[in-house]
Amino acid sequence: MTTPDLERRVNSRLDELYERHVDEHEDEVVEYYDPEAPEEEKESFGVSLVSTDGVAFETGDHDLPFPIQSISKAFVYGMALEDCGREAVLEKVGVEPSGEAFNSIEFDDKARRPHNPMVNAGALATTSLVLHGDEPEKCMERILAALRRYAANDSLHVDEELLAAQFEDTDRNRAIAYLMRSQGMIEGDVEAVLELYLRQCSVFATTHDLGMMAATLANGGVNPETNVRALEGRYVRDVLSVLYTCGMYDAAGQWAYEIGIPAKSGVSGGIMAIVPGKLGIAVYSPGLDEYGNSVRGVKVCEEISDRLGLHVFANESEDILLRAVG
Ligand code: GLU
Repeated sequence: MTTPDLERRVNSRLDELYERHVDEHEDEVVEYYDPEAPEEEKESFGVSLVSTDGVAFETGDHDLPFPIQSISKAFVYGMALEDCGREAVLEKVGVEPSGEAFNSIEFDDKARRPHNPMVNAGALATTSLVLHGDEPEKCMERILAALRRYAANDSLHVDEELLAAQFEDTDRNRAIAYLMRSQGMIEGDVEAVLELYLRQCSVFATTHDLGMMAATLANGGVNPETNVRALEGRYVRDVLSVLYTCGMYDAAGQWAYEIGIPAKSGVSGGIMAIVPGKLGIAVYSPGLDEYGNSVRGVKVCEEISDRLGLHVFANESEDILLRAVG
């Protein structure tokens, strides 16, 4: 339970965190997903922490919508598990970190499937599993309904302009998808799979929404504000395991080592991280590092994880002592 005094104190700590990171990232930015974006947009920076009892602590541009991009892969993977069951999903997409870039044209040759659902090949396989040969636009309504349950926000929507732009520029995903069909890894209408995949990537949400979505995963699949279930409880573990090992592009190992909580990032600069039973964390800041992860996002999560002792393998008693004297 929080009290107004506790909320005030946490919010002021978050404002301090914002100040510490707002000026320091520029020289580490390697690229922006949208290099043409106006300078002030590139400088956006929002942080949201949502507890599993539904209280949000936020700072900066936490109400600014941005495309969730690859973060959608986590939720669609959950939906595929619900639709098809674990065995059928595992047959089509593995759970091994690939160590390759998100858009690499690499497969698990022994099992004849993409390595995991967080690289594009795996996400295309997952998306094809939820499509069931349906119309992409119709299926997207179902995905949107699920995302809205996670976020407790009915205004999450697909940005048609971004969708059209992504469609113009998706040759690599198209190549991956056709190659996969030629090898029997996906079936049916490849263009429909691509459309649905790009639709899920083009959903706009705020850092607040993403914090709430992370809190829903942290809360066993039930949104802590509405008490509505977004994902069957038995699949939360599967989604979080994959996020822990594969969620941060090819810096996933480094992230697991340093920060130690399941997370997913997207090329637009969003990161969501999940502390099971406790907290959802979301950060948005578009400047990306060489792995495609938000520079400020990684630093902010690192600081929050360190300060709150969130690493899943942290030695609690030692950490508590260190914090006490530090
Ligand atoms: N729409 C992007 C793509 O598939 C998403 C990439 C990402 O966020 O990693 O190329």
